[in-house]
Amino acid sequence: MSITPLMPVYPRCGVRPVRGEHCHLIDEDGSRYLDFASGIAVNLLGHSHKGLIGAIQRQAETLMHVSNLYGSPQGEELAQKLVDASFADTVFFTNSGAEAVECAIKTARAYHQYEDGDSQRTELITFKNAFHGRTMATISASNQEKMHKGFMPLLAGFRYVEFDDLEGAKAAVGPTTAGFLVEPIQGEGGIRPASQEFMSGLRALADEHDLMLVLDEVQCGVARTGKFYAHEHYGIEPDILATAKGIGGGFPLGACLATEKAARGMGFGTHGSTYGGNPLAMAAGGAVMDAVANEEFLAEVTEKGERIRARLEQFIGNYPELFELVRGKGLMLGIRMKVESRPFFVHLRDNHQLLTVAAGDNTLRVLPPLVIGDAEIDEFFDKLSAGAASYEIPES
Ligand SMILES: *Cc1c(COP(=O)(O)O)cnc(C)c1O
Repeated sequence: MSITPLMPVYPRCGVRPVRGEHCHLIDEDGSRYLDFASGIAVNLLGHSHKGLIGAIQRQAETLMHVSNLYGSPQGEELAQKLVDASFADTVFFTNSGAEAVECAIKTARAYHQYEDGDSQRTELITFKNAFHGRTMATISASNQEKMHKGFMPLLAGFRYVEFDDLEGAKAAVGPTTAGFLVEPIQGEGGIRPASQEFMSGLRALADEHDLMLVLDEVQCGVARTGKFYAHEHYGIEPDILATAKGIGGGFPLGACLATEKAARGMGFGTHGSTYGGNPLAMAAGGAVMDAVANEEFLAEVTEKGERIRARLEQFIGNYPELFELVRGKGLMLGIRMKVESRPFFVHLRDNHQLLTVAAGDNTLRVLPPLVIGDAEIDEFFDKLSAGAASYEIPES
């Protein structure tokens, strides 16, 4: 047998972390890595946050799992916190981002298939190079063929338009359109923030045609950009929003948020999950919310983001052959490279013990824990400078 016990869907990697300390990961062999990837925008509070660990420990000792067939004081409490912190009136908890997007898609469809709704409105307009997860519905929602290959047929009901192209989106709206599904800042696609015009335009189109504006904030949400949710930068509100990654701070947790109106089709018996909203996940989510959902914390994220960005802009000027520009918001930053970003990310990881994430459009993602301080920022620039200075662009 040559297949590995762990299904080989990810590349083999020499970095094998076994322990985390604040903003560092420690490998099997004891090497220390500066973690500016945060498990892809997950570990908002770093790796050994006392509040998060304590909340999980206390809950694990009290009640770890119970069925959603029973009432859930833990779920009610976290749902209330999310409602208080956002546009939403109601919340469905999931265990992952893809499930949160699945619930968002179902909620948008059910809005139109509800009683006197317009049941021919079944199609969501989605945007090129989006990433919404790896389930059948969420790969079908993306035009990225590398995720489709081998898994046909796709699920019907998605129509792809160029990202940030308002005219394209407008032209795609028709009698079968149910709404729009969009990342306000494309993550995997290369840290590409949507323009103000695009986001306001989608909101206006949705209002005009009674469509659902569904935001995928799985990566850009939960304080990452200096707002609790990234759409707040644009002064608009969605009807439905998928959140995950950072919300559990490392514990698997996601949620679908909706307004009362948008959730009109999601009544008793329409959706469910065995684990979704389980007390352990609720405890983790509550600890994360308590730490990040306040103005002081958000202001710090903004301030650190601006500081890193200004230094990055200056830094990339030293290597015009490698770097083109910096983009993003808060602590969701991307460096667009003039060469392939993936080999540079591997070089930083293997030769300079700096963890970042490669993304589409030759972009290097910089996604530190939101709790970084001056020491980690200085260490990041030391490692990045050393990495750029020692980099030999591979022959392609
Ligand atoms: C990561 C991600 C997802 C999928 O989340 P999983 O927890 O991996 O299922 C969906 N949408 C966006 C924007 C993401 O970044």
